[in-house]
Amino acid sequence: TLQVAMGFALLSSLYGDFMQAVGASARIFTLLDRKPDVFVPLNPLVLPHLTGEIEFKDVKFKYPSRPETEVLKGVSFRVERGQMVALVGPSGGGKSTIVNLIERFYDPNEGTIAMDGCDLKLLDLTWFRQKIAMVSQEPTLFACSIKDNIAYGREATDEEVIEAAKQANAHEFVSEFEMGYDTLVGERGVRLSGGQKQRIAIARALIMDPTLLLLDEATSALDAESEHLVQEAVDRAMMGRTVIVIAHRLSTVRNADKVVVIDKGQIAEMGTHNELLATHGVYKKLVLRQLAAGYTGDAKDQLPRHVKE
Ligand code: ATP
Repeated sequence: TLQVAMGFALLSSLYGDFMQAVGASARIFTLLDRKPDVFVPLNPLVLPHLTGEIEFKDVKFKYPSRPETEVLKGVSFRVERGQMVALVGPSGGGKSTIVNLIERFYDPNEGTIAMDGCDLKLLDLTWFRQKIAMVSQEPTLFACSIKDNIAYGREATDEEVIEAAKQANAHEFVSEFEMGYDTLVGERGVRLSGGQKQRIAIARALIMDPTLLLLDEATSALDAESEHLVQEAVDRAMMGRTVIVIAHRLSTVRNADKVVVIDKGQIAEMGTHNELLATHGVYKKLVLRQLAAGYTGDAKDQLPRHVKE
């Protein structure tokens, strides 16, 4: 089952392109036959003491399926080890693309992305993917047991699975199922709530003990209870790690060491929440429009009075 699941993971990484191919079955076959787009070095490198420091240098990128559109037009920024950097900006600006490039679903057309000073292209991809974990807004759970969903592409003991689930605030609800961690999820199994799925996804990320954590914060509000449990789990997962988060919550951007505002494929502004508010630019407008996505989290996240128009 796990192999099937991992096959799906690969497929889902191609999902964006897949959607472009739907309706033209001939193209679907082309897509499924497609080799990964990324560069494979002759002697892939493994870095022994990874810190998770990331640097984008003048990165330009077009999706292979849409060569006419430059999605990133020269993006440069740096994330120091242990920092939390928030990517914000209007929809379609390129935030997810930046994360896709870090995950190496694609390589930049120009410029470089380096971790600890080493171009990602030169790294051993399988090794590198074990050092990063992504928690997406709508995590994909596979039609297998909760245990396998958490352990995912890694050999893990039951104890490790349970410890990760505890950290992710998932242990309690999983234990309430008659079959516990052997409970099947998906069509033939239990239906989990959005917040429960997210906590499983956080446990999955934690079990990899990643150096770099990538997060796509949910735009849709969960119920207050779930919201709190998910946020607590996310906060725990961030501790001691380098984190890049596509942020939709005001509390996240306030806590970020650096906020990078991405607009139309370029960095519009960069700085801390307070610095950016003081510049009266794009960021302030975004904040006033509740970070564009309309979601700011719970009541304590209400806008401070001084930024109200
Ligand atoms: P949102 O906040 O809505 O998620 P975003 O800032 O994350 O937006 P991206 O998803 O990175 O923006 O999209 C940037 C541009 O790239 C958009 O024009 C989008 O249509 C395009 N794009 C995104 N994914 C693909 C893909 N797989 N193939 C082709 N074009 C894509």
